[in-house]
Parts: sequence; structure tokens; C-alpha cells
Amino acid sequence: MGEFSSLKRNDILNKMEQNEFDILIIGGGITGAGIALDATTRAMKVALVEMCDFASGTSSRSTKLVHGGLRYLKQFEIKEVADLGKERAIVYENGPHVTTPEWMLLPFHTGGTFGKFTTSIGLKVYDYLAGVKKSERRKMLSVSETLERVPFIKKTGLKGSGFYVEYRTDDARLTIEVMKAAVEKGATALNYMKVENFCYDEHGNAIGAEATDTLTGESIKIRAKKIVNATGPWVDQLREIDGSKSGKHLRLSKGVHIVFDESVFPLHQAVYFDTADGRMVFAIPRSGKTYVGTTDTFYDGDPAEMYATKADRDYILKAILYMFPELNVSEANIESSWAGVRPLIHEEGKAPSEISRKDEIWESKSGLITIAGGKLTGYRKMAETVVNLVAKKLSDSDNHHFGKSITRKLPISGGDIGGSHNLEAFLQNKQKLAESVGLSQEEGRRLAKLYGTNIDKVLELLPEENRSIPRAVYAQLLYGIQHEMVVKPVDFFIRRTGELLFDIDAVEMWKRDVLTFMSEIFQWTEIEKQQLEAELNEELAQAAGRAAVTV
Ligand SMILES: Cc1cc2nc3c(=O)[nH]c(=O)nc-3n(C[C@H](O)[C@H](O)[C@H](O)COP(=O)(O)OP(=O)(O)OC[C@H]3O[C@@H](n4cnc5c(N)ncnc54)[C@H](O)[C@@H]3O)c2cc1C
Repeated sequence: MGEFSSLKRNDILNKMEQNEFDILIIGGGITGAGIALDATTRAMKVALVEMCDFASGTSSRSTKLVHGGLRYLKQFEIKEVADLGKERAIVYENGPHVTTPEWMLLPFHTGGTFGKFTTSIGLKVYDYLAGVKKSERRKMLSVSETLERVPFIKKTGLKGSGFYVEYRTDDARLTIEVMKAAVEKGATALNYMKVENFCYDEHGNAIGAEATDTLTGESIKIRAKKIVNATGPWVDQLREIDGSKSGKHLRLSKGVHIVFDESVFPLHQAVYFDTADGRMVFAIPRSGKTYVGTTDTFYDGDPAEMYATKADRDYILKAILYMFPELNVSEANIESSWAGVRPLIHEEGKAPSEISRKDEIWESKSGLITIAGGKLTGYRKMAETVVNLVAKKLSDSDNHHFGKSITRKLPISGGDIGGSHNLEAFLQNKQKLAESVGLSQEEGRRLAKLYGTNIDKVLELLPEENRSIPRAVYAQLLYGIQHEMVVKPVDFFIRRTGELLFDIDAVEMWKRDVLTFMSEIFQWTEIEKQQLEAELNEELAQAAGRAAVTV
């Protein structure tokens, strides 16, 4: 079992430098994490490096749905929809704590994208392609049934709605749980390690990479037989370094989401609805909040510096008022937001929303394997395909044979609860356990959903009494540092707990104490502490729309 504690960074770094790996994966988003898990469970020696925090790229900035992509049926991407649809159930079974079935309402109005007939047929085909179980197959709702679920939906021209199942997830936590599973099985992984260059043998084959620890500036060489570029929106930058950026390339498309408190946007039913300009947008209730998105516009800036602009917010507000005209929401009600870029494979003359979301694998002359495009939902299957290729290459060159992928039935970290049908019993059990150590049942349920079976380790870290921060927050933070590679306050508040997105007031409340506590543990200098505080404040300001650059 590998280490995943940020207090053991030096040991992990030494291990990376001293070993030769079968596969080096660059990028710690869902794609890289999935490849690491698939490869390590096939007995490959695996290293993974991430230049920022795990899931800090696109994999914490999505719509947070594990879905088959209903919309792609319009583009007749039948195989894509069928593959993704089937993966939904697999992702759910392997990590039921981090993925939840969510009934989605698809309203249709006179003159809208879908009519009653097309909705009915479309959803039926969707269910069929995804092999959906009987209890979750689509239903058609009348106008009054639709209004029962969302009383403030646009009534003019309302004809009814389709009602079908998707899955809601926390993209960053899904990524972390997959990453942890890979490390538990033996992978060596490190965040804040940026690949700057490749190393080649005399025949021009890539045999390693030079990576810099962005916390210390120290550089190391990592040796590997095969290298996989899983850097999402950054894949072309790595191909450029490899001298192989020719032919197909990426086109980035920006997507923004905004968050409201349920007191101003009282949605208790997820809705997938038309915008006035013919696109489709999700509104999804989650833990006392409602989030809405997304936009889809070409983006040429730096994918690491991505925030919602005023124009993005205005677009989504307009879409909300188009479908929910009785709501009284405005810019001032937006509590938080996030923005990400889709790494789409460029197709000449097409608008962003017309470009296919499917993935492709490219191999350069040096042997660098690049995985481009794709969806969060399809991560496991995509990883299997990439590792099949790597296994073949390794067996061709080394005559070393690796087995078949086993991830279809492999729980991710925290997901080993005996299948989704056991979820409720598991949650109730952990509620009682939490109560026995002095937490409320509600808190116990929240922690069990966040950490799955790892909740036991979190509860072991509970201090006797509240310190300046509540006991549960303290235990979560310690667990994050010791078992989830939390290095900075932003890692904790954005990617390990999601609070900066869905409970921004809690971040404001605990940020100083969390900083002080982390500073004691990591022995930060006053300057380091100030820099990390400024970084957190900048993220808070950007999310809340208070920052100078959100013009
Ligand atoms: C707005 C939006 C909504 C979406 N909604 C959904 C959805 O609901 N469902 C769904 O299934 N999919 C959705 N997607 C797609 C999905 O989020 C992405 O396909 C997926 O997250 C991509 O993961 P990735 O690992 O390939 O890329 P990323 O998550 O971006 O990971 C790449 C990583 O590589 C790192 N990296 C880059 N350069 C280097 C380097 N030199 N050295 C080391 N590391 C490096 C980056 O820091 C980054 O963390 C959405 C995407 C967007 C933008």
C-alpha cells in the first residue's frame, strides 16, 4: 500500500526518483486517476504527477453529473450515448457514497427543442441504449404533474415533461477516491509536481520526464517505460514539449455554473431545460443550494486562471428567468460560482456545443501516449482502453504480460459497502456510530456520504472537544492531510470538502483557524502563511463575484 499523506512528501518524492516505472501518468484529474487505478491493478508499476492539486483542472469544474449525454442523441452519437449510459451504473456501484441517482425533469413547451413525441421516444432510446433497470425507466408527466414538482416553472406553452434518471456526483471527490484507490493498490502519486520536459534515449523514445516540485522548486527525473499525457486542457502543451503537436489539436470551450441558496431558488427537483438561444442548461438542487449551468463558449486563455465573468453570470441569469419567470433572482443572490474548460477535439467550422465530446488516443513518434477529450462519466472505460494499449506496448518490447482490466467490479476508495443496495443501511449504521462519539446523526450521515467506508478513519481523528474549529472539521482536515494529500487551504476547501462552492459562509467562518492549524502542522513561515491566505481569499472573491477581474 502506497503513501498518500502530504506529511510524507519527501518519501514519495524519493520513491519517484529512485525507481523505474512501467508507466508514468502526467495529470491528476479523473482521466489520470482512472488510468493509475486500472494500471496498478494489472500489476504495473505506476507513477502519477499532478502540477497543481488533484482534480484542480476540469475534474472539479464540471456539472457534476454522471450522465449518458442525452443531448448527444440529437447529434446521432448513438455509440457514445450507449457507452456513457452503461458506465453510469458502473460508476455508481463502485462508489455509491459519492454518486447518487437523481430524477431529472425535462419540460417541453410549445416551440421548444423537444416536443412530447420526441421527448418520449428520445428518453426511451436513451434508457434502451444505457440498459436502464425497470424501476428507473423514463416516465412522461402531464402539465399538472410537472407543476407539482416545480410550481414556478414557465407556464406559458407548457405541455408536460419527461422524467428520467441521471446520477449526481462530486467530481473532485470522485477523482480523489479513484486516486486513493490507486495508491492503496500500490501507485506512487504526487500533487504539485509539474512536468517541464521529457527525457529520450538515443533512438528518440521518451523514457522519462523532468518534473519540478512547485512547492520547493526542486527538480527530479522520473524514469518510465511508457508515458501517458492525461493533462486534459493542457495536452497540447505537453505535445509541444514533445515536438509532436501536429495534426489534430484541442479547442477549449468554457463552461460556468452559479450557485444560489435554496431560499431564493427553492428547487427540489433537478431540471434540464431550454434556453432562449436554443441550448440546454441544468438546474440542480444540492444540500440546501441550487446550482445552474452551463455556458459553452470558445476560450483561448489560460485554463488555470478560469473564473466566471459578468457576461457568463448574466447569460445564466437570463436562462433562469426564461424558464422560471416567477423567480426573483439577480446577480446579488449568486453565492458562489465556478468555471472550467472542456478539452474538445477541434472540428473546423463547428460551434462549441456541436463538437463531439468523445475521446481519442494519439501516440507520438517518441511513444508518448496522449488521451484527449472525453467525459468524467466515461473515465473507467477510457482508462481501460489506454492501459490495454500500454500493456500491448510493454508486452511487445519486454515480453512482459499484464492481465485484463478488473475495474468494472472494483470499488473505489470508501466505496466498499457491498453494493448500492446496501447504501441506506450503511448510512444508518454510520449515523449511529457518529452519534456514539458525540456527533449529531445529520453530521454522521454527511460524513458517511463524503468518505464512505473511510469515515471510520475520520472519526478516529476526532479530538475530545471542539477547538477553535468544530471537532468534525478538525478531523476532516487531519484526515485530508494524512490520507488525501491536502497541501494548501484551497485543496481542503475546494476539492476535499466542496465547501467553497456549496457552503461559502462556512469557509469564511473557519478559514483563519484552518490556516493557523495547517501552519502549525506544516511549519509555514509568516510569508508562506500570508501567501496561502491570499490565495484562498482570491478564490473566495472570484467564486463570489467580488474579484477585480470578473468584468
Ligand atoms: C463546464 C463543464 C461541465 C462538464 N460537465 C460534465 C458532466 O456533468 N459529466 C461528465 O461526465 N463530464 C462533464 N464534463 C467533462 C469532464 O469534466 C472532463 O471530461 C474531465 O473532468 C476531464 O478530466 P481530465 O482528467 O482529462 O482533465 P483535468 O481534470 O483537467 O486534469 C488534467 C490535469 O493535468 C494537470 N496538468 C497539466 N499540465 C501538467 C504538467 N505539465 N504536469 C503535471 N500535471 C499537469 C492539470 O493541472 C490537471 O489537473 C464537463 C466539463 C466542463 C468544462
